[in-house]
Amino acid sequence: MQLLRGAVRSYAWGSRTALARIQGRPVPSDHPEAEIWLGAHPADSAHVVHEGGSTPLLTLIDGDPGTHLGGSAQHFESRLPYLLKLLAAEEPLSLQAHPSSAQAREGFARENAAGVPIDSPVRNYRDPNHKPELIVALTEFEALAGFRRPTDTVELLDALAVPALGGYRTLLAAQPDASGLRTVFTSWITLPGQALDDILPAVAQGCIDYLSGPARSDGGRFAAEARTLLELGESYPGDAGVLAALLLNRVTLTPGQGLYLDAGNLHAYLRGTGVEIMANSDNVLRGGLTPKHVDVPELLRVLDFEPADLSPITPGADDRPTYMYSTPAPEFALSRTAVAAGETVAVPGSGPRILLCTSGTVVAATKGTQFGLTVPQGSSAWIPAADESVTVTAESGEAEVFVASVGRV
Ligand SMILES: [Zn+2]
Repeated sequence: MQLLRGAVRSYAWGSRTALARIQGRPVPSDHPEAEIWLGAHPADSAHVVHEGGSTPLLTLIDGDPGTHLGGSAQHFESRLPYLLKLLAAEEPLSLQAHPSSAQAREGFARENAAGVPIDSPVRNYRDPNHKPELIVALTEFEALAGFRRPTDTVELLDALAVPALGGYRTLLAAQPDASGLRTVFTSWITLPGQALDDILPAVAQGCIDYLSGPARSDGGRFAAEARTLLELGESYPGDAGVLAALLLNRVTLTPGQGLYLDAGNLHAYLRGTGVEIMANSDNVLRGGLTPKHVDVPELLRVLDFEPADLSPITPGADDRPTYMYSTPAPEFALSRTAVAAGETVAVPGSGPRILLCTSGTVVAATKGTQFGLTVPQGSSAWIPAADESVTVTAESGEAEVFVASVGRV
């Protein structure tokens, strides 16, 4: 087990304070920091720190997959199958979805055959893998995820009372199912600029009227939705993604709650700091709310229009010291362990693991070793498969660690 130094990714939607603060660096940081990648992704591998320097984790694994990956090597072509991230969003990320395995294989082959270079900005499929993902909130974390039940969206449209959306409201009320959602979403996301220039200001006005109106019979049920629509409209004027956001569930995670996003789930993270784990893939299909490459036809091919009743994964009061966030993804598993001051706790998982300390300081130790490794808040450690069970001891005060491992294969 060795300290692992993550790769800081600077995107415009990141935060100049959140990640630096967790890691105890000066704030504000020079650039907005969006993500710290903890993994062996070829685009930006984390580095394992050793005396006199550091080595990319990817290089170490390639050199000795048996020691580092153990039995999981053969399942995942000698690659670490997951990517763990610390993520801080100060502004909304793009409206996006990820393909299923079959869609990713087909799309990757299709773009290869068409001769689109792998690093081209218009490339959709950079690898042949699906990308299920799980976000666990460290602060309150806000997102749009999955299509809201159409009957609820009809009520939202009624509350905003935008005459230009009347026809769509009628359509959705008459067909409150996946195909009604497909029709409305497809119309909205492909509206020409001229039509958007008419409709979007009317939607914004509807939101303002709703938020500032007299006491409403619905008790302000859609206040968060209306505020989000206004914010999105301000950040991305004229963007069809703002309209599409009308159809999505507005989710707020409290610290510790998790949200699992399977293939085809349309989502946009809005704000917050979290720990995210995903299959080691870069396949993102975007529909708007971004200056990056948007490919609406391809997004429409992979979207799942079934209304999603998204209930966050919620640890209970009894789930101490350790909670496993259970998902169907074979590539990854994620646990959270809270350790009381001075206490020593065994963390779950075997095989290739990454330990991330999100609060306090722990000393992590593998079975049979005399000295542990000190992992302070915001730091992480690489635990090769050859290291067996691991315990953590909270050095002073309470501590919290997340452990990423391979899922059930
Ligand atoms: Zn995503």
